[in-house]
Amino acid sequence: MSGGIAERDWAEAVAAIKAVIRPGAQVLLACHVNPDGDALGSMLGFAQGLQQLGVTGLQCSFPGPLNVPEPLHMPAMDLLIPEEKAYEAPDLLVTFDAASISRLGALARRLDTAAMSIVLDHHASNSGFGKLSLVDPDAAATAVVAARLLERLGVAFDPAIAECLYIALVTDTGSFKFDLTTPEVHELAARLVGSGIRVGEISRRIFDTRPFGAVKLFGEVLGRATLDPAAAKGGGMVTAVATLDDLAKHNQPGYVLEALIDSVRCTAEADVACLLKQVAVNEWAVSLRSKGGVDVSAVAVALGGGGHRLAAGFTGRGSAGEVIEAVRAHLA
Ligand code: 5GP
Ligand code: MN
Repeated sequence: MSGGIAERDWAEAVAAIKAVIRPGAQVLLACHVNPDGDALGSMLGFAQGLQQLGVTGLQCSFPGPLNVPEPLHMPAMDLLIPEEKAYEAPDLLVTFDAASISRLGALARRLDTAAMSIVLDHHASNSGFGKLSLVDPDAAATAVVAARLLERLGVAFDPAIAECLYIALVTDTGSFKFDLTTPEVHELAARLVGSGIRVGEISRRIFDTRPFGAVKLFGEVLGRATLDPAAAKGGGMVTAVATLDDLAKHNQPGYVLEALIDSVRCTAEADVACLLKQVAVNEWAVSLRSKGGVDVSAVAVALGGGGHRLAAGFTGRGSAGEVIEAVRAHLA
């Protein structure tokens, strides 16, 4: 066993990858829709590891338009191809950070057509799919699982691979602050940093840089936040709502809101933080965070989403008030 994954499964994954180190093999890597740092970083880091081993014919993709938010620009993005161009029946499919088939959009069809499929993930809510499932809910990031597999394959972390895996690790651990930040996480980080990557520059780009319009936008949305001390069985819930009008007023793209939950969840009086980010009329990307008293992934799963015990999300439909009431009801 390593990190809750059976030795037999590691060996099978290593064999499946060695089998595609040959000319003409078609290898498709896929991560979840609206990829975050872990989804993209673990996929692109892994892709470069496979290239180092001599895998050719590699494709990387995710569902939806191929827009990567500027703070997440990283090496090997030239491997990204739109989902329509993905191999119809690859020899090997590897998925990253996707907890359920729905998170893969139309790419999920490749789970049926691929000769072999490996699922790399760390969501406790992972629904169990793919021919081989390497899922470790105790791993701080999918990148931890991906790095274990790369090291078993004998891949050396060059700076480009390391930058991708580091971005994945630093985003999913909240800069090494969350509970799953184990000695193994720091040891992996040490090996990645040891390759010569510029940690300060990467952190500034990802966490500490935003347009002035986004600073004003955050102020406005936070100014309207509400605190409901009775919610979550008295643990308290803080809620903020960012509308498309807010984005338009400050001329900002939607991705700038990804960082906003971190300001909302600071609220000392609330165990649960809830941020609604409007996607369309009556459609919201909802972020949930818990300080420990509540399992927010259970709430998210009940409302059609997923995630982790302390960080989860779902797509909410209806008015903002209706979506908040649904969350409140599931916390009661
Ligand atoms: P965030 O709030 O940062 O978008 O997401 C927090 C966690 O919840 C992530 O681990 C992500 O995988 C999960 N998550 C967020 N939105 C969704 C969703 O719509 N569906 C599912 N299944 N998981 C989600
Ligand atoms: Mn992740």
